[in-house]
Parts: sequence; structure tokens; C-alpha cells
Amino acid sequence: MTAFPGPIDPPTRLLMGPGPISAYPSVLRAMSAPLVGQYDPFMTAAMTETQELYRGVWATGNEATLLIDGTSRAGIEAAIVSLVRPGDRVLVPVFGRFGHLLAEIAERAMAEVHTIETAWGQVFPVSVIEEAIVRVKPTLLALVQGDTSTTMNQPLDEVGAICARHGVLFYTDATASLGGNPFEADAWGLDAATAGLQKCLGGPSGSSPLTLSDRAVEVVRSRTRVEAGIREADDVSATDFVRSNYFDLGMILDYWGPRRLNHHTEATSMLYAARECARVLLIEGRDAVIERHRVAGAAMLAGVQALGLEVFGDLAHKMNNVVAVEIPAGVPGDEARRAMLEDFGIEIGTSFGPLHGRVWRIGTMGYNAREDAVLTTLAALEAVLRRFGASVPTGGGTDAAADVFRSS
Ligand SMILES: *Cc1c(COP(=O)(O)O)cnc(C)c1O
Repeated sequence: MTAFPGPIDPPTRLLMGPGPISAYPSVLRAMSAPLVGQYDPFMTAAMTETQELYRGVWATGNEATLLIDGTSRAGIEAAIVSLVRPGDRVLVPVFGRFGHLLAEIAERAMAEVHTIETAWGQVFPVSVIEEAIVRVKPTLLALVQGDTSTTMNQPLDEVGAICARHGVLFYTDATASLGGNPFEADAWGLDAATAGLQKCLGGPSGSSPLTLSDRAVEVVRSRTRVEAGIREADDVSATDFVRSNYFDLGMILDYWGPRRLNHHTEATSMLYAARECARVLLIEGRDAVIERHRVAGAAMLAGVQALGLEVFGDLAHKMNNVVAVEIPAGVPGDEARRAMLEDFGIEIGTSFGPLHGRVWRIGTMGYNAREDAVLTTLAALEAVLRRFGASVPTGGGTDAAADVFRSS
């Protein structure tokens, strides 16, 4: 007889890493709602509602606001392959792992990619970005907002005006930052922005919210191809069409727009999840959610510092929702993380590239940007640090964090 595995039954975890994080319970409930057909009036209405909810999340009036089916990387790829023609110059300021990802994707899209770099733990002054724009003359600036690999939050508020002045399209990857830090798509002059659910939005990975300005829609439209059997002969038939079917934003726009031209089958349960993430965010209020992330992040920072731990990076530009904590000398980083997980059910993050083995990344995002989650994590961290021989003040971390919550 074959022994089949039992039904899925995950352990209880408190996900306090850089993402994915524990989803809002209502998001998980939304995902278990029954399926409907792709053109059921309920489904098309839910798609339209979701678009309007995300206009609120992005702070935009952009008609072209929708979801890409796939993780955040799918949104990034859709934006870049649809906006960039082979040979176009793309400028990518790199301040962490995800800047390298934008450059890599732009290269695959056959762009002429130019990067500028700053040290991990720093952000770019806008003047440096403008100088590079003047020198490179790109068609597109692709810039990460919050890079979880370094915890830095690149200021974007003045970059859109610079791009507009130089006729450059402005795209940002806001996956790590959206919903936990200020974001203003229209006021900051964004032409394209993408995200994911598994950070501050409090959902699972697998759906990528995206918004496009009218200027970006024009570029995308000029590159959309006729798909035989679906589109009419009078549709645009570009010669420099987008070299991806799944990520052709023009086709995806026609699926979400009034024509509802068939493209992929919208991932129904992920649509329910994304809709619920935006709904809970807007009901709490955009400013209130960001403030909750600010307070939880400040409490976690105060807590780890009170335990005597050093924190990596320029704290003036740290994202609200994640902190990079230096692993104390003599403490085995991976073993300590394993003890957090196995003995306390708490996940904290490791790190990439130059920070690998040097820092843990601890997140306070979405549903887990909460006092009890912060205090529980600090109490467990204190116990684990002591077990591995670090001398830490008893109760120091939780006391300092609780003070931050009490005084805000
Ligand atoms: C976490 C993160 C991603 C994740 O991409 P996935 O495809 O969802 O794994 C992308 N960009 C940034 C800036 C991130 O922080």
C-alpha cells in the first residue's frame, strides 16, 4: 500500500523576517472563498473593485492599475519588458540586491543598461541620480524604493520631477515598502510602479499590484501585438512588439479594461487575497497603517539596541518595516536563527551578498506590525542570545520596545 502524505498542516509560525510575513487572517479567509468563472459578473466586478482599491493604495488616479499574476518579480518583469525596447538605455541606481535584479531583467529585455552604485546601507542623493540621468540620457530610470537586502528606503519624492524634466520614464519596485512607508504614485511623478503582497500588504506571495501612468500606457500600447483568434485585425500590430506574451502589459490592460479581451485566466484566489489586502489597508487608513509600521519598526529598533546589538546601515533612511541586526561576535548566526524557529516558532531572516553571515534581518510588517509580535520576538531573541553565550540585559529589549509603544 502506498502511504500518501496527510493534508497540509503547517506549524504555527510568527514570520518576523524580511518577507514573506504572516498574512492577515481575513486574507487567508478570502482565499478560501469559492471560485467563479472568469467572466462571471461577480468576477469582473471583483476585478474592477480591486483596481479601484489599489488606486487608493498607490495614491493614483491611473486608469491602468491592476494585478500581474505571479510574485513581485512578475510585476517587475512585466513593467520592464513592456516599457523597454531593445537598445533603449536604462539607468539603474543600485543600492542592494534588488537593484541588481532590475538591471538583470533590463539586460534580458536587451536594453543598454547603465548602473551607478552606492555602498550597501546607503541611499543615493537625488543630485547623483540627476547627474547620471544627464550623462546616460536613458529612456527609463528603474529604481528600487525599499531594498530589503539592506533595509534602506530610497527617497523618491523629488525623482519624478527630474525624470519629467529630462523626458525619462520613471519606474520603481515598491515591493518591500508599499503599505509600510509613504508612497505617492501621482504626487511623486511615477510612470510605473510594482509591488507584491508578502511584505507590508500582509498577504501571501503570488500577486503583483502594478500601476502605469498615461505616458507609460502610450508606450505599452504602441508595442502590443495582435494575437490571432483574440484580437480584431484593426488592432495595433507593432513591429517592435513586447517579447513576452504573458507579460505584455498591453494585452493585460485589454483583459482588465472594458474590452475584457481574453489573455491568461486571472488567478481567482490570489485576486481575492489582493483585494482583501487593499481593503484592510484602506479601512485602517493609509496614514494609520504607515504610522503603525513606523511605531512597530521604531520599537523593534529600540529593542535590539537595548539588547546591546549593533544595527547596520544609515538609520536616517531605514525602512519602517525591517531592521538589519549585526550578529554579535561568537554567536553562530544560523544556529541561533534555527533556535528561534524550532524552540519559539519565530522566523527571522538571514541576509545576502556582502551582509551574508553578518546580519539578521527582522521585519515588522503587515499583520505582524503589532506590539505583541515585537515583544515576543525580542523576548525570544534575548533568550537565544544568552543561550549562545552573548551577555544581554534581562528584559532590556522588551522594556525598551514597550516604552516606544507606550509613548506613541
Ligand atoms: C522581497 C522583494 C521582492 C520579492 O520578489 P518576489 O518575486 O515576490 O520574490 C522584490 N523586490 C523587492 C525590492 C523586495 O524587497
